[in-house]
Amino acid sequence: MSAHMDINSERYDELRGMLEERRREILGEVQGRMRDVRAEGAAAPERGVVDAAETSESDIQDDIEFALIQMKSETLHKIEEALGRLEDGTYGYCFECGGEIAERRLRALPFAVRCRNCEEAREVAQTRERAMSQRRSSTSLFLDMSS
Ligand SMILES: [Zn+2]
Repeated sequence: MSAHMDINSERYDELRGMLEERRREILGEVQGRMRDVRAEGAAAPERGVVDAAETSESDIQDDIEFALIQMKSETLHKIEEALGRLEDGTYGYCFECGGEIAERRLRALPFAVRCRNCEEAREVAQTRERAMSQRRSSTSLFLDMSS
């Protein structure tokens, strides 16, 4: 209890528990999928001659499986990072205003880097920017047409 003296220890425990639970879940899923892929791969030769269409279909299936596994691995990596940041006492704080990100928000979005207020402000700014650039492009389109 030295590095995170300033962080509410109850919150620390909660967040740590939440991240570790998620890590366990994903790890279990990845391991389950890996077993399935391996089992399928081992069973494939016994099916005998398969036509080309079937082969490519199962290839696509494998690709999807591997893409999923890769995605899960990336999530695992993010969870590891988040746990590291939690140790440093930087996890769960807003990137913009430095305020605590609500635990409920972190449960829904464990990798959120902004609090709800800052995220909303950012979205409003982005929407406004998009609207402005759209107006700009339609104005220039209009000018192009009239010239
Ligand atoms: Zn904020």
